[in-house]
Amino acid sequence: MFSQMSRLVSYSPAYTIVPTYECFNRCSYCNFRKEPGDSPWLTMAEMKQELAGLCEQGVVEILILSGEVHPNSPRREAWYDRIYELCDEALNWGFLPHTNAGPLKFEEMARLKQVNVSMGLMLEQMTRELLQTVHRHAPSKVPSIRLQQLDWAGELKIPFTTGLLLGIGESPSDWGWTLEAIAKSHDRSGHIQEVIVQPYSEGSRQRSQGTDLILANYRK
Ligand code: SF4
Repeated sequence: MFSQMSRLVSYSPAYTIVPTYECFNRCSYCNFRKEPGDSPWLTMAEMKQELAGLCEQGVVEILILSGEVHPNSPRREAWYDRIYELCDEALNWGFLPHTNAGPLKFEEMARLKQVNVSMGLMLEQMTRELLQTVHRHAPSKVPSIRLQQLDWAGELKIPFTTGLLLGIGESPSDWGWTLEAIAKSHDRSGHIQEVIVQPYSEGSRQRSQGTDLILANYRK
């Protein structure tokens, strides 16, 4: 099988920039989020300083990875505009921006396409059962909303990265279902450029809290 595949291996040296750690979702396994208001947004001056430091390091791609402001929040527009400006700035410096900022409205995705070479969102898992456990307080993790993001990206012809998060309480049979959903979206639009298979790993926050929600919810 391998001999029939291309042996060309490509890679892109990337650097992650976080506009904000604040997130209105509360996934029980999250080691990233801060409460809204507790994580000042990255300023344009700070962004320029970071980019200047990257120029000599061979970095090609800038991953803009952001916590989420609620779609109905009065702060949503300012949050979105900041992400747009950060991407635009990265382009101006000659970097290739790739944004993953959670589910976007169709219009937001369409406009952000103008300043990104590709975008991404982990589908994670298609089973709705996780909405009763690790995603009980994470409205952005409704599987149909995330799958729609893949389809919208295809409609907008945006090269898209997605993937599975493993070990958050799903069953092995859910893996196939989730991969199939990604494959069907790709069949429709041919836009999925990468599928990440990411095992959950406990972070310092979970260790310090002594919680083991993931394993407790894992079904054999
Ligand atoms: S969506 Fe969930 S995992 Fe992502 S930053 Fe927010 S709380 Fe964390």
